[in-house]
Amino acid sequence: IFMWFVHKGVILTKDNLLKTSWIGNFGCCFCDHNETIKHLFLECSLAKLL
Ligand SMILES: [Zn+2]
Repeated sequence: IFMWFVHKGVILTKDNLLKTSWIGNFGCCFCDHNETIKHLFLECSLAKLL
């Protein structure tokens, strides 16, 4: 089910939270890039390490 959410792009990453009324830092917690689903699961240096 979680992977279906990832595929549909409905995981509450910061880029999706910004589409709502959420106010906060758009950056990834682990590096300097913006937090998107693609970044968090495929591109982030921590994801590559794991
Ligand atoms: Zn990152």
